[in-house]
Amino acid sequence: MAARVRELQKHYVLKSETVRALRGVSFDVPEGDYVAIMGASGSGKSTLLNLLGCLDRPTSGSFVLGADDVATMTDDELSQIRASRIGFVFQSYNLIPQLTVVENIEVPLYYMGQLNNKSRKRCKQLAGMVGLGDRLDHRPTQLSGGQQQRVAIARSLVNDPYFILADEATGNLDSVTTEEILALFQMLNDQGRTIIMVTHEDEVSQHAKRMIRLKDGEIQIDQKTEDRQTFPDDVIAKISMDADTSAQPV
Ligand code: ADP
Ligand code: MG
Repeated sequence: MAARVRELQKHYVLKSETVRALRGVSFDVPEGDYVAIMGASGSGKSTLLNLLGCLDRPTSGSFVLGADDVATMTDDELSQIRASRIGFVFQSYNLIPQLTVVENIEVPLYYMGQLNNKSRKRCKQLAGMVGLGDRLDHRPTQLSGGQQQRVAIARSLVNDPYFILADEATGNLDSVTTEEILALFQMLNDQGRTIIMVTHEDEVSQHAKRMIRLKDGEIQIDQKTEDRQTFPDDVIAKISMDADTSAQPV
């Protein structure tokens, strides 16, 4: 089980009122699942994502990741688990402009003190896997938005995460590039990676295996995706093949 959420509540206590952003949410995310979290603005998506990403603690309820209940962890333990076991992909890529593609992928390892020749080699392999084997020394400004997001996805994988947490990962991309990123997610999910993504676009959520819809801090719908959209094998095969064929030295 990648994650087990039980009766999760999050209240924001303000001066004049208490906002009940999550009102008792329960679900399991089995390993290998691919979940789209949806819901109107204010329904609690970001709050839930912050909890799943160990960026915040719930008011009550439990969230078990591996063998640990995150709800009872200290701040240090939370940041440790965030750095070591959760892969974040953001709408705005969050790459470091001064660093190359491969250096950006290395960043989480650097923070964990795990950068060495072996892990560097793995970062290059990850760049190849996302189709950027011929762009290792490029900087973010020299890449398209879709390529930048592929760097971020490779970076999210370096710490062998329990799951990839993607927050509107295609929100800044045009429709063709959105398809490329969704094909990459499908490839990773086919390889066994667990993916949880927040999106407000039906076309994006159609690619997930499952949809959880929040309404006013509660789960309104949790169901298998009807008429799931998938990319054909040849499209998936091409993602990493592009890297292999162009990986010769310049
Ligand atoms: P969504 O991401 O679906 O738009 P949010 O999780 O951001 O929803 O917000 C859920 C509810 O909690 C909203 O009513 C919002 O105003 C409130 N909320 C979110 N963050 C805070 C905060 N830090 N302090 C107070 N209220 C908040
Ligand atoms: Mg939000």
